[in-house]
Amino acid sequence: MSAKSRTRTPARELLFGNLWEYDPAPETSSPQLQDRYTLFINGKWTAPRTKKFFTSLSPRDGKPLADIALAGAADVNAAYQAATSAFPAWSKLPGAERGKYLYRIARLLQDRAREFAVAETLDGGKPIKESRDFDVPMAAAHFFYHAGWADKLDCAMPGKTLAPLGVVGQIIPWNFPLLMLAWKLAPALACGNTVVLKPAETTSITCLKFATILQEAGLPPGVVNFVTGAGETGAAVVNHPLAKKIAFTGSTAVGKGIQRALAGTGKKLTLELGGKAANIIFEDAAIDQAVEGIVNGIFFNQGHVCCAGSRLLVQESIASAVMQKLKIRLRSLRVGDPMDKNTDIGAIHSLKQWEKIDELVKAGVAEGAELYQPPCALPEDGYYYAPSIFTNVSLSHRIAREEIFGPVLSVLTFRTPEEAVEKANNTPYGLSAGVWTDKGSLAMKMAAELKAGVVWANTYNKFDPTSPFGGFKESGFGREGGKQGLLEYAELI
Ligand code: NAP
Ligand code: MG
Repeated sequence: MSAKSRTRTPARELLFGNLWEYDPAPETSSPQLQDRYTLFINGKWTAPRTKKFFTSLSPRDGKPLADIALAGAADVNAAYQAATSAFPAWSKLPGAERGKYLYRIARLLQDRAREFAVAETLDGGKPIKESRDFDVPMAAAHFFYHAGWADKLDCAMPGKTLAPLGVVGQIIPWNFPLLMLAWKLAPALACGNTVVLKPAETTSITCLKFATILQEAGLPPGVVNFVTGAGETGAAVVNHPLAKKIAFTGSTAVGKGIQRALAGTGKKLTLELGGKAANIIFEDAAIDQAVEGIVNGIFFNQGHVCCAGSRLLVQESIASAVMQKLKIRLRSLRVGDPMDKNTDIGAIHSLKQWEKIDELVKAGVAEGAELYQPPCALPEDGYYYAPSIFTNVSLSHRIAREEIFGPVLSVLTFRTPEEAVEKANNTPYGLSAGVWTDKGSLAMKMAAELKAGVVWANTYNKFDPTSPFGGFKESGFGREGGKQGLLEYAELI
């Protein structure tokens, strides 16, 4: 193809797109929701002592889905008492027996995968193809993986014995509700701990549905307890004296507060916090694949991803070619109803998050960066945001420094690998990074020099239960997944 005909491609693609619109392909399975959910304490549904409930809305259309119990300090205390009573028997169970429960939980989740995927998408706003093909299967995979560890703890650290910690308090965010629950519960249970877990206020539904899986699996009462509510409930979970460890995933600001609150208490702590990852494209990279990696890196789950590749670093010599291809690719992304199986970018999780994204996008424009958004019709109800790319970004801009947690990409350029490392590491965060190059030696050099817990080479956003995930600097400490993640839930004796 000549350079001239290549420049005509966008217009032809747009025309083709207009003529060949997709038919709607709505997912119609039932999420099997109740109108109202109470707390799951000691294996039973328990009315909150606060007598208060709040409503979970669907970001897809802003409509209510279910009422959720608001747990107060007395409810959190009841959950900790139940977990403490359940601990001796659960921790003494042979590992192979604990493993059987975890296998059963994993299989039951697979059996009900479609129902859980629909519930996750309705409550959180992510595209159904993501909850169906990523969140739910990956959550099941974490239970399978840790089921395999339960009877092999003696092999994890040669010469050492792994002892459970006791009752652990766990707090998770709204962007991957079921998956974060699996990341937290599976290793804790495999090691013989008991749990009090709080999901995010806006995404409690799959957690509460998960309680029915625990019941079906016959998990002994009190081994897992779910308390729902907002930050105050989370603080009660963190500060309860019976907690031996707190595992938190969420924002850096709240994580720092938790670290302060736990200082001197002797409780163990792991923090999985925010990120502002660099996705670095070298001039020898396979550009078409890299463009797919850029799109996946920033638009997966509307960019509500702690490890999102939100800063694109492109080598100067290929910057204009990459931007041209990226803009063409953006025009083919389908933004809209998350329940449509063809949707690529679903609903922004909440009005609050929409406003945060919009505020930062406006700041980017005001600071002089150049905004590109492809033409796309957004649904009128619910919360939607067009995929956005900023060029002419400088390192001092807020959009280059702050975690936006939305479908917004900031593009910077570099000339040498040293400059790429310098720019990539110029952030308070250190969770993840991507490197695209044809040279294995360059990928390895970059992986060693980037201050990030995970570095993907010629791919992005790849996860596996066997692979530890976690951050450096203000992205937190501790790992989830793999043997390293398992060891966070055990004492070595
Ligand atoms: P957040 O506001 O910190 O909330 C996270 C969880 O903590 C929620 O369950 C929240 O409850 C609870 N919480 C709020 N205040 C609390 C307090 N004072 N004490 C104890 N718990 C408290 O974060 P978010 O906005 O939900 O989640 C987005 C953030 O999570 C982003 O920064 C993202 O990067 C990070 N994240 C990190 C990872 C990772 O693995 N590193 C993974 C996913 C997300 P309510 O929401 O109910 O108020
Ligand atoms: Mg919701």
